[in-house]
Amino acid sequence: QADVALYHAKEMGRNNYQFFTAAMTLRATERLELEHDLRHALRLSQFELHYQPQYRLADGSLCGMEALLRWRHPVRGLVPPLAFIGVAEESGLIESLGGWVIEEACRQLAAWRACGQGPPCVAVNVSVQQLRSDKLLEHVRAALQRHGLEGEALELEVTESAAMSKPEEAIERLRALRALGLRLALDDFGTGYSSLTYLKLLPIQTLKLDRSFVHDLETNDNSAAICAATLALAHTLGYAVVGEGVETAAQQEFLRRHGCDMMQGYLLGRPMPAAHWDALWSARS
Ligand code: C2E
Ligand code: MG
Ligand code: MG
Ligand code: MG
Repeated sequence: QADVALYHAKEMGRNNYQFFTAAMTLRATERLELEHDLRHALRLSQFELHYQPQYRLADGSLCGMEALLRWRHPVRGLVPPLAFIGVAEESGLIESLGGWVIEEACRQLAAWRACGQGPPCVAVNVSVQQLRSDKLLEHVRAALQRHGLEGEALELEVTESAAMSKPEEAIERLRALRALGLRLALDDFGTGYSSLTYLKLLPIQTLKLDRSFVHDLETNDNSAAICAATLALAHTLGYAVVGEGVETAAQQEFLRRHGCDMMQGYLLGRPMPAAHWDALWSARS
């Protein structure tokens, strides 16, 4: 957790640094304040989704996008998800916030499709609390229907640790989502402790190889070995693999050589607001 914090702190620059580190070690009153602010933020529509492209390694085609939550705070600026997701989860707010994320991603994909643009599918992150709630299925069903999307248009990303914390329950929930046609991905793979027994039973299609391994595969033999072994394991189990956090051509080349299916990372595209994508689509056509 600490290095994730440090990474984000560096990336977001000095202003966000204080807020971000504070969020990791909030005192009770600060936590209440943040929770209060988050509730307002939802009502005031201060949240937005940024979209990061995912490409197929074989032919370089755009195969999807991951929707990543941001809080457009009136004073603090753009706040990254790790600064507030934890409090949203603990306060129960994640259910409605997560519902908004699903609705907004579906709305945006439908809007892109209406002008003949957009990726085939959008991926949304879900927290363990969402996975444990009956509302998730309802949110998904309603959003797909409202925007005239088929189930395959939506992919849900569940972290390895969320899926493994109560695996039988997770498997049941994921099966119900899968029955709607959704694609399912196991996020941050390699950072949790997967039981191979359960891994095999999860109705997922994709493993996302955690970016911490991709990040130092050029300099750390262990990371390189983990990447190669994960790719081999995933393919044996019939899953596709997305390499996360690809920043260099050498990382891309390593993943390609080891048969990785898809990639996502700053090398090929950062998360960007939807408006930015609108401009890109229209520049292309
Ligand atoms: P994640 O799902 O693993 O998302 C990937 C994170 O890696 C994103 O950080 C993305 O901006 C970052 N990233 C992508 N490419 C690169 C790269 O080449 N280098 C580096 N260093 N980083 C890269 P972000 O947007 O700050 O999100 C952090 C985490 O917050 C996500 O990790 C996810 O766990 C969570 N999150 C984001 N949006 C949501 C959401 O809507 N709901 C929930 N429950 N969690 C979310
Ligand atoms: Mg993700
Ligand atoms: Mg991830
Ligand atoms: Mg992550």
